[in-house]
Amino acid sequence: HPADVAKDIYINRDTGVQLPRTTTERVKAAFVVLVRNRELDDLRSSMRDMEATFNYKYNYPWIFLNEEPFTEEFINLTTSMTKANVSYGLVEKEHWGYPPWIDQDLAKLKRKEMADEGIIYGGSESYRHMCRFQSGFFYMHPLLDDLDYYWRVEPDVNFMCDIDYDPFLYMKQHDKKYGFTISLREFYSTVPTLWNTTKEWMGLNQKYLVPQHDPENLMKFVTDDDGDSYNLCHFWSNFEIGSVAFLRSEAYQSYFRHLDQAGGFFYERWGDAPVHSIAVAMLLKASEVHFFNDMGYRHGPFQHCPDGPDWLSKGKCYCEPRKSFDMSFNSCLPKWMEVTNTTVENYIISQS
Ligand code: GDP
Ligand code: MN
Repeated sequence: HPADVAKDIYINRDTGVQLPRTTTERVKAAFVVLVRNRELDDLRSSMRDMEATFNYKYNYPWIFLNEEPFTEEFINLTTSMTKANVSYGLVEKEHWGYPPWIDQDLAKLKRKEMADEGIIYGGSESYRHMCRFQSGFFYMHPLLDDLDYYWRVEPDVNFMCDIDYDPFLYMKQHDKKYGFTISLREFYSTVPTLWNTTKEWMGLNQKYLVPQHDPENLMKFVTDDDGDSYNLCHFWSNFEIGSVAFLRSEAYQSYFRHLDQAGGFFYERWGDAPVHSIAVAMLLKASEVHFFNDMGYRHGPFQHCPDGPDWLSKGKCYCEPRKSFDMSFNSCLPKWMEVTNTTVENYIISQS
């Protein structure tokens, strides 16, 4: 029966080549993309890479979110990039705008100051709504209600290696809550009061924290002086595979609400990357976080390229390991390895 066949193999429409599925267990998971209509071409390019390296075998659904309605063209030309289910969600007004306690004149003044100082996205209002949304609201969208895991994808990124296992299944089977590929240092000028605001919250919410003396405590990833200051290390959140339940947890939401009340998403330019990362460091254990070393991933201006044995010659990757951001002085990967007492060998999953 054709339907049964389709469940077990994938037949490339152009070449007729049949490929076996590598797993039968399905995870409740999806790609989640916040995107604007005008980013259509760049998004299609990201989708092409994701489908070609992974999803043609697994058919995980795509979820697109926008604070404006998607155009018919956008919907048609993204639907046509995949055989998997696609859905298009509108962001609700309260998740994309100013909460009542924000002084909008002050916010405007701060944007002007930060733009004059040449801080990246310092003058942008929409970028701040985006960062707040990615920090506190994307995971609350009803389209994510039935999901255990999300994989964040952005326009104009590349996946340069074949992914011949199911990362969602890996997360599930190993009880992982958060996965990353690139970690780096944030610009201090975007987050001057984030750490003090975080410390206030920690003081009031000890019950949520991984105990300080737990050998799996991750706080040393984000502070070099026992909590006095933030060392600016964070996971680059344009790539994330994460647990929806973790972000919807009382602990994470309480942390986000505290940050939101403080106003730093608007008076400074707090990014969702440091927010997610500090939360991960406070609330998760080392074994709940995974470095997806075996994924070739590029989001300009940086990329991660695994230095896997024979991977280039076998055609598994098209990136150049020597250009990997891991080698940069600004990478926090060495810190991650030190804090978790691991080496790259601990992060090789792919077999073939
Ligand atoms: P960067 O990666 O920090 O340079 O920021 P991006 O411009 O790539 O934005 C991060 C993500 O949010 C991307 O997926 C964008 O498509 C999306 N994004 C940024 N601003 C907006 C916006 O105003 N509206 C919508 N719908 N998406 C946005
Ligand atoms: Mn981006």
